[in-house]
Amino acid sequence: MQIYLDNAATTPLAPEARAAMLPYLEDIYGNPSSTHATGRKARSGIEQARKQIAALLGVKATEIIFTSGGTEAINLFLQGMAHQVPVIISSPLEHPAVLKTLQYLEQTTGTSVRWLPHNALGQPDLTRLEEWLADQPGTLVALMHANNETGNLLPIEEVGAICQQHNALFFTDAVQTAGHYVLSPQKWHLAGLAASAHKLHGPKGAGFLYLRQDIKLQPLLHGGSQERSLRPGTENPAAIAGMATALQTCHDNMQTDKAHISRLKAHLLNELQKVIPGIKTNGTSSLPEASACHILSVSLPPHPANDMLLFKLDMAGIAVSAGSACASGAQEPSHVMAALKVPEDQAVIRFSFSRYNSLEEIDTVVSKLAALYQ
Ligand code: PLP
Repeated sequence: MQIYLDNAATTPLAPEARAAMLPYLEDIYGNPSSTHATGRKARSGIEQARKQIAALLGVKATEIIFTSGGTEAINLFLQGMAHQVPVIISSPLEHPAVLKTLQYLEQTTGTSVRWLPHNALGQPDLTRLEEWLADQPGTLVALMHANNETGNLLPIEEVGAICQQHNALFFTDAVQTAGHYVLSPQKWHLAGLAASAHKLHGPKGAGFLYLRQDIKLQPLLHGGSQERSLRPGTENPAAIAGMATALQTCHDNMQTDKAHISRLKAHLLNELQKVIPGIKTNGTSSLPEASACHILSVSLPPHPANDMLLFKLDMAGIAVSAGSACASGAQEPSHVMAALKVPEDQAVIRFSFSRYNSLEEIDTVVSKLAALYQ
């Protein structure tokens, strides 16, 4: 049996989500825009899912726009806002869905993007953020809630308060935190938030954008009037219902699951430090309050085992992600590890956990890594 510790890449589908999807894959096949009974049932499933997700975020149902995933929700918001904001402040450590969209906007629309500096742990310089916002009111700030490579958690309440104080619009990519943390768009003064179903035990191909009701966006696509014309095209009722049930299941068990996952993470780090001398954590990965509970990123010292490490682990039945600071080897170089100045001769492993992992699996991973690094 494979040990799956790559839950920041994607998660297995929860049985609850699967059960919620099945009726829409079988009997309720109507087009949600059709007025006959099967169409109306599909529409009702979508609107029920919208209400459920909105209630979990403490927002209005009309503020939830369904998309095909995190990338689309991010693009819809950033591209849809670009014509209204003179300046966007973001971080070079963002996921490519934000980074490349902003670079594209810089090149094609003349939008000016200011890249916020960060410290050696990858934490953004909030003093600089305040200074920049004081200079330029009406700015859009795009900072991710948790970094997908290091797990670094943004002090989101503090950033929200700064944005509110300087009349800035605040957008966050919450793809890595949705399902693990309660998302509070109002408390955090958010104008927009993106989330993705497949990171929280929902299906692939579904996500949503929270869009504060007063914000007007230009759509990316043009066509029918679905999703208030912001995302035209026939909806995917099965995926939407699966996403809402998956998120609800995460919320129903959040405290227990978080305690379990945090214990797995702490145990793995503790045991790896015993068997691999010189192992280090990346970013704030080792700090429970400043790091997403489900992500542990480590750097391993130079060793022959570093070569083709991901492949060796895969052969040993362990699925994880890697990311190096250099382009050598099979992996793409990581802009995050390069920015954090992780030495090129170190191997980076990202372990990411879910409620379906066990302590026994962690012990197996430790013994297999110990054998590789002896
Ligand atoms: N943002 C972050 C932080 C992510 O980790 C990912 C997925 O890896 C995305 C955005 C993109 O989400 P999706 O795969 O749903 O397009």
